[in-house]
Amino acid sequence: MLGQMMQMPLLISSLIRHADVNHGDTEIVSRLGEGSLHRYTYRGAHRRARRLANALGALGVRQGDRIGTLAWNDHRHFEIYFAVSGSGAVCHTVNPRLFPDQIVYILNHAEDRTVFFDLSFAALVETLAPRLPKVKDWVVLTDRAHMPESRLDSLCYEELLAAQTEDYAWPVFDENTASSLCYTSGTTGNPKGVVYAHRSTVLHSYGVCLPDVFGLSAREVLLPVVPMFHVNAWGTPYAAALAGVKLVLPGPKLDGESLYELFESEKVTASAGVPTVWLGLLRFLEERGLKLSTVNRLVIGGSAAPPAMIRTFREKFGITVLHAWGMTEMSPLGTVNHPKAKHLDLPEESRDAVRVKQGRPIFGVEMKIVDAEGRELPRDGKAFGDLLVRGPWVMSSYYKGEGGEVLRDGWFPTGDVATIDPDGYMAITDRSKDVIKSGGEWISSIEIENLAVAHPAVAEAAVIGVPHPKWDERPLLLVLPRAGQSVTKEQMLEFLRGKLAKWWMPDDVVFVDSLPHTATGKLSKMQLRAAWRDYRLPTA
Ligand code: AMP
Repeated sequence: MLGQMMQMPLLISSLIRHADVNHGDTEIVSRLGEGSLHRYTYRGAHRRARRLANALGALGVRQGDRIGTLAWNDHRHFEIYFAVSGSGAVCHTVNPRLFPDQIVYILNHAEDRTVFFDLSFAALVETLAPRLPKVKDWVVLTDRAHMPESRLDSLCYEELLAAQTEDYAWPVFDENTASSLCYTSGTTGNPKGVVYAHRSTVLHSYGVCLPDVFGLSAREVLLPVVPMFHVNAWGTPYAAALAGVKLVLPGPKLDGESLYELFESEKVTASAGVPTVWLGLLRFLEERGLKLSTVNRLVIGGSAAPPAMIRTFREKFGITVLHAWGMTEMSPLGTVNHPKAKHLDLPEESRDAVRVKQGRPIFGVEMKIVDAEGRELPRDGKAFGDLLVRGPWVMSSYYKGEGGEVLRDGWFPTGDVATIDPDGYMAITDRSKDVIKSGGEWISSIEIENLAVAHPAVAEAAVIGVPHPKWDERPLLLVLPRAGQSVTKEQMLEFLRGKLAKWWMPDDVVFVDSLPHTATGKLSKMQLRAAWRDYRLPTA
């Protein structure tokens, strides 16, 4: 017997339609490149998204065409998300922080036929365009008055919209149709594309809103610091429309001061981003002796949130950090850390031990850890192994079949090494490539880094494995001291002693002026390993 419910495809256009009808006067506020604020509502956004959908049709864009963006978080990018996917084309967000050669590779590989770009990328686009013969239209995200002087024959976004009407009926099609495309940062080889579907995106949006995930509601003001070119800003633009959240889009300025101003002026209650941006905000707040008066929680993910950061936000600012884990291949959300009822009465120290983990899986994501032979390991919080996941918003293969068959018996291997405890909390030990292999045993680089950044004189720390004649690899701790502070190697080692197993202690500590980051703000261990490959440890 079959159920007798309506068959209505889960489409991205339904999210913006819902927000218009039920949250039509809820605001979307954007900080533009030049600093001014742009304000409108979900109703206004829906109107302009319909004009844009008509404009895409007028340009000859057809269903399935890939439409690229090189843009920051603002209202125009938001409109593109809905107009492109809603009309059946594929919204391909490109990370402008990548090297120009990578951008060229990605745009060519995706065969984008139209590219929307922010004014600030006009010079970049002009130099890249000759290598991108498949792009038919370049559209600058600005009005006529601000169109750049350029040899490139580009279109003006506001003119495109002005030439169209708001009359547009969102087409209805199969919910498994491709909606958007993101390339992974690609630590080895070329970046690979992950193709999301309407169905996976809508299901993921429900997941994002759940109380033990981001807990979004029509009473919240959300500022996604995570860029809209990094896994669709972790799905927040879609989830915000689903829940009727006031959205604050920060544009290109993500320094502590700019974020602080926006948090305060727009009464932001929740935000999300990678640890590096929060380092900048914390430094700014501490230097100026400021507090955030309306923010109550920050979702931190993309790389491990250091326990010291989680504690500082809670103790000094009364802000709950929700540690989250996911990946481009997972739309991206896999786990978020919220306590269970039984944790509430625990002493702070025991709660901290839970808080620092990457969290419990959202319903829709199943996970398990396996050993080298693929045998499932116990969920005891101690055994660690390769983390595998599956679920309706987890990728099954890369765009154009790159990398071949990626699933193992229907599970996606994340490339992360983790533990899972009996309560379902997962903790990342390392990226499998970053784990330090010492005498056949594994040392977690993340765990040492987390301890090192708790030292008051340390701004940032990275631990990498360096070749060692006896042990194969041994940990080297690279420390970026805080401005105006100093610490010696001995003090650093003394600080770690007793907190780590003896054989996990770094063989050396080196102080550096800067640490390299990837285009998505993660420590670039690959670059560090290459730079320190020939380093001779004092123990070698
Ligand atoms: P990306 O697809 O570029 O977002 O990278 C995904 C990878 O980032 C994951 O496989 C993890 O290695 C890492 N990652 C994401 N969130 C966390 C976290 N909270 N803690 C540790 N690593 C993380």
